Amino acid sequence: MCALRYSSSWPTKAYVNGQWYDAKSGKTFDVINPATGKAIATVPDLDASDVQVAINAANDAFKTWKKTTAKERSDLLRNWYNILVDNKEYLAEIVTAEAGKPLAESLGEVAYGNSFVEWFSEEARRNYGEYVPSPIKSKEILMIRQPLGPVGLITPWNFPIAMITRKASAALAAGCTCVIKPAENTPIMALVLAKFAEDAGIPKGVINVVTASRANTPQVGQLLCESPDIYGISFTGSTEVGKLLYKQCSSTVKRIGLELGGNAPFIVFEGADVDKAVAGAMASKFRNCGQTCVSANRFIIQNKIFPEFVTKLQSAMEKLVIGNGKDSGVNMGPLINMSQVEKVDRIVNDAKSKGATIVMGGNRAQTFGERFYEPTLITDVKENMACYVEEIFGPVAVCIGFDTEEEGLKIANSTNRGLAGYFYSNDLSQVWRVTKALEVGMVGVNEGIISSTEAAFGGVKESGLGREGSSHGMEEYTEIKYVCFGNIQQE
Ligand code: ADP
Repeated sequence: MCALRYSSSWPTKAYVNGQWYDAKSGKTFDVINPATGKAIATVPDLDASDVQVAINAANDAFKTWKKTTAKERSDLLRNWYNILVDNKEYLAEIVTAEAGKPLAESLGEVAYGNSFVEWFSEEARRNYGEYVPSPIKSKEILMIRQPLGPVGLITPWNFPIAMITRKASAALAAGCTCVIKPAENTPIMALVLAKFAEDAGIPKGVINVVTASRANTPQVGQLLCESPDIYGISFTGSTEVGKLLYKQCSSTVKRIGLELGGNAPFIVFEGADVDKAVAGAMASKFRNCGQTCVSANRFIIQNKIFPEFVTKLQSAMEKLVIGNGKDSGVNMGPLINMSQVEKVDRIVNDAKSKGATIVMGGNRAQTFGERFYEPTLITDVKENMACYVEEIFGPVAVCIGFDTEEEGLKIANSTNRGLAGYFYSNDLSQVWRVTKALEVGMVGVNEGIISSTEAAFGGVKESGLGREGSSHGMEEYTEIKYVCFGNIQQE
């Protein structure tokens, strides 16, 4: 096991074909710490011509990587995992610096992110095919799984490590090579992951990291989607961008996995344990300052317990400690960037102007810095308000009342999104009815934190296509090849 600890500075060049790479144009862009608004690094701003170099490298590397045994890939992923674990504090500091998370949360994300590398180092060896009994005596039927080829992985800023490892380790395990385009807000983590992958012995060209500014990102995304030398795309991010990539992938009929936005309902039925529901609500809503796609977006509370839930949620919210995530005791950091601040502000102002009650908060928290927002609690919410229909992605809890189970479910399902859903109930029959009726890909029953490497992550409706993690995660990166053996003399 490698006992490497890095104290040197972060890599700040792109990583292409095992080399630290500058943009041909010489252009760069700044990485900003959202807590301070200050630049913490400068990285190359690659354009499509640079990304073509990375695609070529991934194609060259695929020629040999696809021929490695599952055991060899498993061992390399395990080496990578061991280095990541050895450096978990270092990685957590990067998450806090780039994404603004409180350090304890960053450590949690690092453990979650690392667990995908461990998981797929194990899954690599279970990429089984199938032998199928044939209906004809002289024929034998086999189905084998083969890697898609080089793939493009486009990742968001809200989980800078986990969204990369969830995709890249599954791709590598399956025998694919990859070009990773990290979010412009959090490229350092991607580069550090590449550095550690190199240290783990993963050959050059198998992982490439292309950094690009928001301005250059559309051409990079388009090239990855439309290139005949890229055989699959896996994207986590907004529904809007996901739909664009889906269209672009149609030109080459490319496989695409999409993990898009949610609008998670969080239902609390009367008879539920309200204290546990409030604890789950806090974990689900305020983790990463509300910037997760599985964050509870609408608290849908049975009217009989509505006042109790709101009072208890407010008192829990009053205990949140806002600040720079690196400072001890802080458990709510900033929003990632100004466009996110403006979005949250717009949603809250829209609710105010349409008559909602702001029970708590409702403003920017500028004393902490320009990207901070107050924990906000809103009631008297109507269907025509943005906070009812849009994914908020901020520390804003929206509470809606209902009378019957049917009514609660109707509100929960009244959205074109379907990623996660949560509900609290102590009635076993109701638990089954509601679990089946919720139009989502993942359900938390009496639980507000559900993500797990072992379980399939993904959505229905406009929340996405495909599943990540779990024993299904590698399927995204493999094709089934059917092999028919004919003229077999059985006797
Ligand atoms: P957000 O608005 O929260 O940043 P995005 O969906 O825009 O969410 O970003 C998720 C990822 O998608 C990031 O890596 C971002 O750079 C990338 N992205 C944004 N626009 C495009 C695009 N037109 N083509 C490809 N990738 C894109």
